[in-house]
Amino acid sequence: MTYRAPVDELRFTLVEVAAVDVLKATGAFPDFTDDITLAILEEAAKLANDVLAPLNKTGDAEHCKLDNGVVTTPTGFRQAYAKFVEGGWQGLQFPTKVGGMGLPRALGVATLEMVQSANMAFGLGPMLTYGAIEVLLVHGTDEQRAAYLPKLLNGEWSATMNLTEPQAGSDVGALRTKAEPNGDGSWAVSGQKIFITWGEHDCADNILHLVLARTPGSPAGTKGLSLFIVPKILDDGSRNGVQAIGLEHKLGIHGSPTCTMEYSGAKGWLIGAENAGMKAMFTMMNSARLNVGVQGVGIAERAYQQALAFAKDRKQGKAIDGKGPGPHPIIQHPDIQRSLAMMKSKIAASRAICMACAVAADLSEYAEDEDERAAAKRREELLTPIAKAWSTDIGVEVASMGIQIHGGMGYIEETGAAQHLRDARITPIYEGTNAIQAMDLAGRKLNMQGGAAFTELYADIELTIEACSTSSHPDLPLLGERLEEGLDSLREAATWMSEADPADVLAGATPFLTLAGEVIGGWMLCIGAVAARRRQKDKLGDPVFAAQRIALAGFYCEAVLTLAHARVDDITMGVEMISDVGFGVD
Ligand SMILES: Cc1cc2nc3c(=O)[nH]c(=O)nc-3n(C[C@H](O)[C@H](O)[C@H](O)COP(=O)(O)OP(=O)(O)OC[C@H]3O[C@@H](n4cnc5c(N)ncnc54)[C@H](O)[C@@H]3O)c2cc1C
Repeated sequence: MTYRAPVDELRFTLVEVAAVDVLKATGAFPDFTDDITLAILEEAAKLANDVLAPLNKTGDAEHCKLDNGVVTTPTGFRQAYAKFVEGGWQGLQFPTKVGGMGLPRALGVATLEMVQSANMAFGLGPMLTYGAIEVLLVHGTDEQRAAYLPKLLNGEWSATMNLTEPQAGSDVGALRTKAEPNGDGSWAVSGQKIFITWGEHDCADNILHLVLARTPGSPAGTKGLSLFIVPKILDDGSRNGVQAIGLEHKLGIHGSPTCTMEYSGAKGWLIGAENAGMKAMFTMMNSARLNVGVQGVGIAERAYQQALAFAKDRKQGKAIDGKGPGPHPIIQHPDIQRSLAMMKSKIAASRAICMACAVAADLSEYAEDEDERAAAKRREELLTPIAKAWSTDIGVEVASMGIQIHGGMGYIEETGAAQHLRDARITPIYEGTNAIQAMDLAGRKLNMQGGAAFTELYADIELTIEACSTSSHPDLPLLGERLEEGLDSLREAATWMSEADPADVLAGATPFLTLAGEVIGGWMLCIGAVAARRRQKDKLGDPVFAAQRIALAGFYCEAVLTLAHARVDDITMGVEMISDVGFGVD
C-alpha cells in the first residue's frame, strides 16, 4: 500500500490547532506566509509519496551491510538522500543567517512527519542531523558554526549522537569513553559506543559524531561529562580514528544502520565547556525527543492508511446494514469502524501535541515579551516528554490495531502491516525510554517553578471548555463536559503526585503521563472542533472535513476522556500495592 501525505490534515492542525500563525507576530519568520506553508507541505508530500515511501519495503528486506568498516545502505537510499539534499530539507527550520530556510519548527515537524511515515529507517538519518545543528547553534563557537553548519544544513554531511555504552543506557552518567588533551586544543577520544544510529553509511560525504566522554579528573556521574565533535574525515582529508565495528540485527528499521562505534584516539573538539556536556546534550535530546514523538505519529498515520485501504477492500460476512447478500467489505462492520476511529482520533491528538510543542519552542526563543518567552519555555518543557512518550505509545498501539484489522494477513510480512509495528516498537525505547519521560514529567516538570506549567495548562484548557460549552453547535457542549471531567481527573492526579512520597510518584509516573497525554490530546481535538465549527459558520473550507473534525473530537471524548477518572486510581495506588505482588527481590 502506498502512502499519501495527509496535507489537508497537517495544514489544519498547524494553523487551527497549534496556532502556528502566532509566530508571524514575532517578526522572526519573514518568509513564513500561508502560500509558503502550502507550497512546502505539497513539495514535502511529493518527496514522501514518490521517493521515500516506495523504498520502505526495500529497506526492510535488504537491511544495511557492513564490510570492513564500510556500511552500504539499501538500494535507492543514496539516491533518495541526494533528493532530500537537493530539496534543501535539512535546513528548513533553521535561521537564514546560518544557511537555513528560516521557517518555524512546527512546519519542520509537519515535513518530518511525512518523511517518517514514508520511511522511518531513512528519516532517522536526517533527524539526528537536526539535533546536531541545534547543539552547534546554541553551544558551538563562531568557528565551529562556520566550519560545520553550512555542510550540515545543506545535507552534504550528516551527524550522530553518541551516548550509549554497554554499561550506560538510561544511566548516561555511567559512561566511560575518555578524552585526553592533545595539547593543541584538540582531544584524543577513546572508547566504544553502541547502538549509534546512522553511525556509518554511504549517503553523505562526512559524518560528524557528537560524543559524550570523560576528561581526566572529571567528577563522577553526569557532572563529569563533556561533549566532543569528532569528524569521520578530518580537514586534511585523512580518516579519523573512529570506525563502525558492528551492525545490529534488529526487530525493525532495518534500513537504518545501528552501529557499534570504536573510537581509538580519534581527534575531537569540545563543544561548550568541559564538564558541561550534559547541558549541550540536552539541547540535542529535547529536539530529538520531540522528533521521536513525530516518528510515532508518522508510523501511526502510515499504519492507519494501510488499514483503511485494506478494510475497504477485504470482504467478509454480512454487514448489519449491508445491501444485498454480501459478503461486504469489512469496513462496514461497526467494530472495524470503531478501531479506525480510535486510530484516527489518537493520531490527530498526538500530531497536535507535537506541533504545539514545536510552536512553544519557537515562541520561547522569539516572542517579543520576556514573560511570554518564559511561559512558552514552560509549555515546551511540559509537552516534550508527553510528545515523545504518548505519541510513540500511540505509534505502537495504532500499528498493532492496523495488524488486527488485517486479520491473519496482518501477521504475514507480505502486506507490510507487520513492518509498521516492528519499526514503531523502537520509538518508546530510544531517546530516553518512555519510563524516563514519565519520571521527567512527574518528577521535574510537574513541580517546576511552583507548578506554573500545569497551572497555565489548566487555564488554557478551561478556555476551550468554555468555548465548547457556549457553542451553537448541538454536539460541542457535551465535548466541553467531557473535557472538564478529564481536566478534573488530571488536576486530582497532579495534586496527589505533587504531594506524594518519591517512591509513590515513581510508581505512578507512567499512568500519569498517559493521563496527561489523553487529556491534552482531548483538549487539542476540542480546539479543532471549535475551529471546525467556526469554519462551518463562516462557510470556509470543506464542510465535510469540518463535520468530520467535530465527530472525531466527539468520538475521542466519549471513548477516551471518559476513562480519565479510572486512571486516577491507577496513578495513586502507591508503590506498596505494586511491590506486594512479589518478584523475589528484597
Ligand atoms: C535501534 C536503536 C537505535 C539507537 N540509537 C542511539 C543513538 O543514536 N545514540 C545513542 O547514544 N543511543 C542510541 N540507542 C540507545 C538507546 O537510547 C537506549 O537503548 C535507551 O536509552 C535505553 O537504554 P538501555 O538499552 O541500556 O536500557 P536500560 O537503561 O538498561 O533500561 C532497561 C529498562 O529499565 C528501565 N529503566 C532504566 N532505568 C530506570 C529508572 N531509573 N527508573 C525506571 N526504569 C528504568 C527502562 O525504562 C527499560 O525499560 C539506540 C538504541 C536502539 C535499539
